[in-house]
Formats: sequence, structure tokens, C-alpha cells
Amino acid sequence: MIEASRLKKVYGSASEGVHAVDGVSFDIAPGELFVIMGLSGSGKSTLLRMLNRLVEPTGGELRIDGRDVLKMGDADLRDLRNRKINMIFQHFALFPHRTVRENSAYGMRVRGVAEAERLERADWALKTVGLGDRGDAYPDQLSGGQRQRVGLARALATDAEILLMDEPFSALDPLIRRDMQDLLLKLQRDLRRTIVFVTHDLNEAMRLGDRIMVMRNGRVVQLGTATDILHKPSCRYVRDFVSDVDRSRVLTASTIMREPLLTARVSDDPREVLRKLSNIEAGGVFVLEDDGRIAGVAHDELLARAAAEKCTSLRECLTDDYEQTGPDTLLVDLCRQVGRHAVPLAVTDDDGKLRGVVPRAALLTALSDARTTDSSDTPKEAAHV
Ligand code: ADP
Ligand code: MG
Repeated sequence: MIEASRLKKVYGSASEGVHAVDGVSFDIAPGELFVIMGLSGSGKSTLLRMLNRLVEPTGGELRIDGRDVLKMGDADLRDLRNRKINMIFQHFALFPHRTVRENSAYGMRVRGVAEAERLERADWALKTVGLGDRGDAYPDQLSGGQRQRVGLARALATDAEILLMDEPFSALDPLIRRDMQDLLLKLQRDLRRTIVFVTHDLNEAMRLGDRIMVMRNGRVVQLGTATDILHKPSCRYVRDFVSDVDRSRVLTASTIMREPLLTARVSDDPREVLRKLSNIEAGGVFVLEDDGRIAGVAHDELLARAAAEKCTSLRECLTDDYEQTGPDTLLVDLCRQVGRHAVPLAVTDDDGKLRGVVPRAALLTALSDARTTDSSDTPKEAAHV
């Protein structure tokens, strides 16, 4: 959807100017939530504004949906900004003398959508962001978080395929900010817009981003998933950021799960399963149906009894003494479930198939600081920066 190549912005003259963005390349897929993260002054806003040419690039190439943006004339550019791309700022203005509904319909005005349709779409957008009952209110009757929701509604109401968001939640207090992040993730699951989201907060970046581009002094120091950045920081700069991240609220079950050491099939012989179990010194094992769904857990004690009684059906030894969770559960929510059973926590798909397990030690390792668990503590800086 967006292809940027060696994008560059120098404010002022080439020799004495500020190199705000210094040769940045990336591709963003349709439906991706792409985060640009970096400290203040690293060039995030400049880069974001070059995507719709609110800031004119000094050099490089930019294509959106295959079209060369830097070659567009005024009419095409206006069309790009009005239809294809919508921008949400940290401090964006609501018209104080217009209702919330009129404010959220505003983005469509410039596009020449008929009044009735505008208001209908505005109502839909307000409902989507949880303000369905506030359409007739005026901006000064809303809280800060609610006003920011109107901004989101305004962007959603135009069916722009691309949303550019410049620190949209940074002015909100932490609890409301979490709510807005949840809301954005929920909306994005249904709407699948292409979103470029700027933040200076790595926790926020990791929570939201399908991929994260970390910037420093106008350059990219790392581009990858949250897991890439946590486990393989490209340099000391990124690693220092990572050490401040609350891993329990960023990592999910699927990022730390492992292959189980042993699983059994319902058709297996209890004696054979007991023997394998004693080899790995475990007290229980997941028993799977032929299609991979969990049939239950077999404990060593029940297996031993079955073996003594010459019982050959593993199904008769099964208990439901285990816990399972989905792949997207945050680690903070796993803590309660892990370590209370003979088998590790099961990570299952929607259809109940076993995808992996989270042993207690794996959870504890993941929650501890990267710097103390990373055995290869050699500087990796030179190669990447
Ligand atoms: P960020 O959004 O990451 O804080 P910016 O893109 O706003 O970074 O700024 C990057 C650099 O460019 C900074 O050094 C900033 O001072 C400079 N800069 C930004 N806008 C302008 C401008 N209009 N004129 C001159 N310098 C600017
Ligand atoms: Mg900025």
C-alpha cells in the first residue's frame, strides 16, 4: 500500500539545514498497523507528513497504491488527501459551535458527500467508538478521552483506506490511553485500514504495532515485530529502550510457547505412555485426538493403575486436570493459570487444537529482563546503525 524509498527531508539549506529524515525506506502492507517509534526530534512527524506531502520531501521516492506521490499534480494530491488518506493529530481541533455528530461528519464535507449520508455515517462512526449517545452534545461537554474518540470517529467516517496518526493518545492519561489502544485494536480487527501510527512510547508501539520502525536522528535503527525487537534488539540504543518495556503487557502466549516435550494419542498403549513419561520425569501428558484437539491429560498415577489392571485404553485414564488459553493472551493474564497442574499451560487454537505449551519456567524467563537472560551479550551496534 505504501512504498517509501530513501525518503529524505532537510529543513533549510542543504549544507546548514536540519536533516530531519535521512534516507528512510519501508513498505507497508494493506491492512497493516505500522508504528513509527522514536524519541522527540527523531523525525517521526516529518516522516509521517511526507506521506501525504504536508511536508515536501527533499529526496527519495514514495508510492501509494502503486502511484508515484511525488509526481502528483495539485488535483491528484487533493484527491489523495481528501479520499485516500486521513490524518489524526495529538491535538486536533473540534469546532466548538458544532455538535459532536457534525464534527465527526466534517471529514466527509470536503469530499462532497450528501448531508443525509454524512450524518448517517457519522452516527455509525460515533457508535463504533462508543459515543453513540453523544451525537447531540457539544465538544466542551466531553472529556479529553471522549474528544479523542471523536477524532477517531471523524477519521473512520470518511472511508479513507489509510490513517496517519501522530501521537493521537499521548495527551491522554494512562488509563484512558489503554482504553483507546484497546479500541483501536478492536476497530482494526474489523475494519482493517492501513494505519501508520507515531508514538514515542515503546510500550504503546509494542502493544499496537504489527511491525515497529524505531527511529533515531532521522534514521531507522530497527524495523521488526515486537518480538523481534524484544529478543533481538539491533543495537544498544534499542536494547536500552527494551529494558523499560513491561514485557508482561506486551508479550503474548504465542510468542513464548514451546513444543511440548511429549504428547500421546488416544490410541496409544498406557504402559508405553507411562514409560515415556518416566523418561522425561513428568507427572502428566497431554493426550490428543487424531485431529490434534486435546482429549485430556493422563497422569502417571492413573497410567500406573491402568497398566497394573492390564487396561489398554488410554481414554479411560484421562482427566481434565489442565488449563488452556488462546495464542493472543497477554503474559500478565497467564500468571494465574500457570504452574498449578502436572502439565504446562496449553495454548490452543479456536478449534481446540494444541499449538504449544507454556511451562512455568518459560513464563518466568520471558518476564525477567532481557539483559539478564540474553547470553550473547556482545555489542551488535556496528552492523546495524
Ligand atoms: P518528532 O516528531 O520525532 O519529534 P520532528 O519530525 O518533529 O520529530 O522533528 C525532526 C527534526 O526536524 C527536529 O530536529 C526538529 O527540530 C526539526 N524540524 C521539524 N519541523 C521543522 C521545521 N518546520 N523547520 C525546521 N526544522 C524542523
Ligand atoms: Mg512529532
